[in-house]
Amino acid sequence: MFKPSRRTLVLSAAAAGAVFGLDKRVAFIGDAQAQKATAKSILDKGFVKFKVGDIEVTQIYDGVWQRAHDAGFVKNASVEQVKAALKSGGQSDETVPITFTVTVIKSKGKTLMFDSSTGGQLAPTAGLMMAKNMYKAGVDPAKINVIAVTHFHADHISGMISKETNSRVFPDAEIVLPAAEYKFWMEPSLIEKLPEAARGNARRIQAVFPKWKNVRQIEDGQEVIPGVRALSMPGHTPGHTGYVVSSGKKQLIVSSDITNIPVLFVRNPGWHAVFDMDAQMAEATRRKVFDRAIADKAMINGYHWGLPGAGTIKKDGTGYAFVPVNV
Ligand SMILES: [Zn+2]
Repeated sequence: MFKPSRRTLVLSAAAAGAVFGLDKRVAFIGDAQAQKATAKSILDKGFVKFKVGDIEVTQIYDGVWQRAHDAGFVKNASVEQVKAALKSGGQSDETVPITFTVTVIKSKGKTLMFDSSTGGQLAPTAGLMMAKNMYKAGVDPAKINVIAVTHFHADHISGMISKETNSRVFPDAEIVLPAAEYKFWMEPSLIEKLPEAARGNARRIQAVFPKWKNVRQIEDGQEVIPGVRALSMPGHTPGHTGYVVSSGKKQLIVSSDITNIPVLFVRNPGWHAVFDMDAQMAEATRRKVFDRAIADKAMINGYHWGLPGAGTIKKDGTGYAFVPVNV
């Protein structure tokens, strides 16, 4: 198992915890301000649909966090460089617009959701859009058979854990958790190694997941449902895991948080976002997965890639370019 040094762990967990730990709330805003990052017509709709072979894919918009600039956000780039990258991507440079988008697939009678949104638990205005946009997209929450989790950061798991009681928000869905991620977060001594801001989410994970029934741990390469396999993508967290959705010759790589927003981190794969627990490993994974997507002519999506948050990757000088799918 990957073991980060205590220093790496504390520094990165402090940074991530300050953002996504449940102990410290951050300000999220709704669709009005997100228009700078994504076309208004798509945001108003709240979802996009496309096909991967026979599989129907729906991406559901959950909101955006306009993150104020700070020097620590990208460890090896300045605020000026970040602002310039946003502008060159046609976006406002006032803030860093970090969006949240959940992907649902329907395949052979099964409905599978990747991760579960913020659940409205990181701030009053995020997560609440999920229910509305799910309904608009024709996805019935009660009919979700499987939730496949990529990693245990609070913005990915809170939507399936009730805020008041920690009970399951999707009681009938099988929960699939990456085994490596489970092992890392379940270690009792982890709590004391984390800074205070990150402990709430870790304590919650340790209290909740072992008690839930209908939970399956998955290893790299194993099948979630027919046509969907786990693919280890470590670095962002030790057990961060993506999924490969296949239908005939078509593929969608669900890459979750191997990058944060494309305009910064697809274009500059060597930039290290504060959220990555092991920045070097995260960069190696990012390049490897992008190169695979190019070689396989696969579609790829990201949890923080806005709408449409899926498309293809192309080599672009020393970096890559994200080309969104036509919807
Ligand atoms: Zn995330």
